[in-house]
Amino acid sequence: MRVAIAGGGLAGLACAKYLCDGGVVPHVIEREDVLGGLVAAWRDEEGDWVETGLHAFFGAYPNMLQLMAELGISDRLQWKQHTLIFNQPEKPGVLSRFDVPDIPAPFNVIVAILRNNDMLTWGQKLRFALGLLPAVVRGQEYVESTDRYTLSEWLRRQGIDERVNTDIFIAASKALTFINPDEVSAMVTLTALNRFLQERYGSKIAFLDGAPPERLCQPIVDHIVQRGGKVETGVSLRRIEINPDGSVKHFVVGGKGEPDRILTADAYVCAVPVDILKLLLPDQWREMPFFQQLMGLEGVPVINIQIWFDRKLTNVDHLLFSRSPVLSVYADMSNTCREYADPQRSMLELVVAPAAEWIGRSDADIFAVTMAELAKLFPDQIPEPAKVRKYHVVKTPRSVYKAVPGTQSLRPPQVTPIANFFLSGSYTKQPYLGSMEGAVLSGKLTAAAICRHFFSAHSLGQATALKA
Ligand SMILES: Cc1cc2nc3c(=O)[nH]c(=O)nc-3n(C[C@H](O)[C@H](O)[C@H](O)COP(=O)(O)OP(=O)(O)OC[C@H]3O[C@@H](n4cnc5c(N)ncnc54)[C@H](O)[C@@H]3O)c2cc1C
Repeated sequence: MRVAIAGGGLAGLACAKYLCDGGVVPHVIEREDVLGGLVAAWRDEEGDWVETGLHAFFGAYPNMLQLMAELGISDRLQWKQHTLIFNQPEKPGVLSRFDVPDIPAPFNVIVAILRNNDMLTWGQKLRFALGLLPAVVRGQEYVESTDRYTLSEWLRRQGIDERVNTDIFIAASKALTFINPDEVSAMVTLTALNRFLQERYGSKIAFLDGAPPERLCQPIVDHIVQRGGKVETGVSLRRIEINPDGSVKHFVVGGKGEPDRILTADAYVCAVPVDILKLLLPDQWREMPFFQQLMGLEGVPVINIQIWFDRKLTNVDHLLFSRSPVLSVYADMSNTCREYADPQRSMLELVVAPAAEWIGRSDADIFAVTMAELAKLFPDQIPEPAKVRKYHVVKTPRSVYKAVPGTQSLRPPQVTPIANFFLSGSYTKQPYLGSMEGAVLSGKLTAAAICRHFFSAHSLGQATALKA
């Protein structure tokens, strides 16, 4: 049995990996010359890695951690101290930490919040805790019901102090979804918070020890190829051709400057971003309610900027929440990532979010506004004496799905009404939002669904073992 998969991001690659494990031969085609999609990276003319995005892994990523363990590459995650670190705009250059003690959840997170006196008063903490009570007591069912509200609306309804929003939730919302609390669905932030409250090491952060295409995607490709699968880069899905009964006849695919060719398989997976999937849908499928609701989903803009300095700006070996209006999270990758290590000079990697206002602007404008914000975070070093050696800006006009209220019910399952057509991608329905964990889990769920759908009772056993 053969399965054609369009899209070589984490979802498509994970799907192929788990299909191989279920005894199915996958054939992945990826439009770009490099694998990884939103985790893709490439080298500049000096050999330094340019990344699509700064990526943090969490302890609450069971499927990603399991995937890496299965590939024998768990040691490539560099786990950091269990703490969350915030900048304080009112005290430039001073950091505030939520140190999470090594005790069972949720007490570890509660103690971390109670011990931090830089950001919230006791009264604000108390009102915050009371406001969160329904989510803690009534669990995920309650959390899902909050998809009606923006986070700002929900905080107001719960009587939670505005200061909690400005101190914590703006930073959390921008980091998780690249949009602000007045746009993001309350459900998204509450889902992440609930997970952190349930798992002892859920909020512990790790960085990959190098660039994702080499350190994460390549081992998945090796696993696939060793088991007879195929992974092609620089090849796009151009059209989905269908049979009279509406099922997929074949994929029409092609490389740059090459004639189109036909890719035939027993099942077909689209692991491309939802915005591209919408363009690829055959006319006959467009009117079906299942595909109609995809029209309500779209990718959110985000920008990644890397800046190389001539000296060390900080020794902090962790992710930081900037709490800047322009920037979201950042890290000094010369400290956090083994392959980028430099004891003398910093390389800051920063996420610009929300990016709607900046996505159409020049790289020079984006660099200038980032430097103005960095002058507040490193007042002793920027603009003087630190000198910038070089910078790279990577714009992604449509990245993960925009998690505004009402979108949860629009996210499709991996199984579609078309018998031989499946979806993968972090935008599809799974409990981990638009994240690397969500992408891996979606691919795994797709693989399990395909095996269930096509295999005999014997193989069904194997497929069930793939279930998340
Ligand atoms: C700046 C940034 C920071 C992030 N930070 C984090 C983080 O810290 N932690 C975290 O967990 N997540 C983070 N994410 C989110 C995470 O990267 C994504 O959720 C995940 O990588 C999505 O994987 P995917 O496979 O679903 O989609 P994608 O990565 O978008 O993969 C889709 C693939 O399909 C390919 N494709 C498109 N069209 C075609 C076609 N016609 N034919 C063939 N192939 C095609 C694309 O080139 C792409 O490779 C971040 C994302 C960004 C952009």
